[in-house]
Amino acid sequence: MPHNKGMDWIRLDKRMALYFRDSFDCVWCRCVFPIDTKGYGLTLDHLDSSKGHVSSNLVTSCGSCNSARKELSVDEWYARLKEDGRNIRRLKERIARLTRKPLNMHAGKWLASLRRPNYNRRPKLLTVLPRPTFDSAIETADTVVARTA
Ligand SMILES: [Zn+2]
Repeated sequence: MPHNKGMDWIRLDKRMALYFRDSFDCVWCRCVFPIDTKGYGLTLDHLDSSKGHVSSNLVTSCGSCNSARKELSVDEWYARLKEDGRNIRRLKERIARLTRKPLNMHAGKWLASLRRPNYNRRPKLLTVLPRPTFDSAIETADTVVARTA
């Protein structure tokens, strides 16, 4: 899916919460990415590409399954997996169970901070620095003039 490309279409904490919900394994081939991989190598796959970035429409997929699926609809993709001998009924049941689960955003934020240590820190400097006033600008200009005089 074209809108799957890149990382920035979803917040990192939500991405990580989705990986966590799916136990850090690919829903399609069940290959496991241990938690210390921080989810690198995993992607998010839209079950139905006409639906949006809602968690009920997103599943964890390894890079190879995501690129193998390419533009296939989910039904075409299930048909392909069935040809490979997969039990589609069980797969659909598992995905239905996973996508109904509420996201654990505490886990998502913690996992995001493993990937970006400052992820959950608010940018304090921006709120602490006083706004420059007209008077302080004049003072600064006077200081510069005094120094250069
Ligand atoms: Zn896979």
